[in-house]
Amino acid sequence: MKRRLIYLILLGILLYFGCEKLSNPEYNIDTSACNSCGECIQICPMDAIEFGPDGKAVIDQTKCNQCGKCITICPKDAIH
Ligand code: SF4
Ligand code: SF4
Repeated sequence: MKRRLIYLILLGILLYFGCEKLSNPEYNIDTSACNSCGECIQICPMDAIEFGPDGKAVIDQTKCNQCGKCITICPKDAIH
């Protein structure tokens, strides 16, 4: 009985964090794939992307609203 309760609690925790991640995805840029074309910077409605010191695009997670527009336009499929 006690073991079943522990399993249920663990399952609840996994479901909670799984749903949180699904409903609030965080997009990141694979700098090894990015060719610095700037398409994502142009299309981002939140002005959340800029070039980092290495010349590759970087997403400011505090500005990103997870709209996904940068993902659809990236020619290198570098944003996930
Ligand atoms: S659109 Fe893709 S390849 Fe172009 S700068 Fe953005 S992440 Fe890099
Ligand atoms: S998901 Fe939308 S808001 Fe976030 S960086 Fe991409 S284009 Fe900008």
